[in-house]
Amino acid sequence: MVKKKRKDIGLRVRGGATLRKRYSRVMDTLNIYHRCPNCSSVKVKRESIGLWECRKCGHRFAGGAYTPSTKVGQASRRIRVQS
Ligand SMILES: [Zn+2]
Repeated sequence: MVKKKRKDIGLRVRGGATLRKRYSRVMDTLNIYHRCPNCSSVKVKRESIGLWECRKCGHRFAGGAYTPSTKVGQASRRIRVQS
């Protein structure tokens, strides 16, 4: 019997399909350019965990660990605007 070759998507640990899917989704959003909230050009890259910087205008802001904005952050911003 020939052993099936497993497709490598970057995660070597065992943890099942759910973990591997979640990991690949995070890595996809991590490595692409995002839209800048200041100049609205698609040039925002992650500096470190939770810190994002626009490569065009130099705008630096705090966001989510893997995405520039999270649902909790949007909710807190909405509350801040109302009060
Ligand atoms: Zn910008």
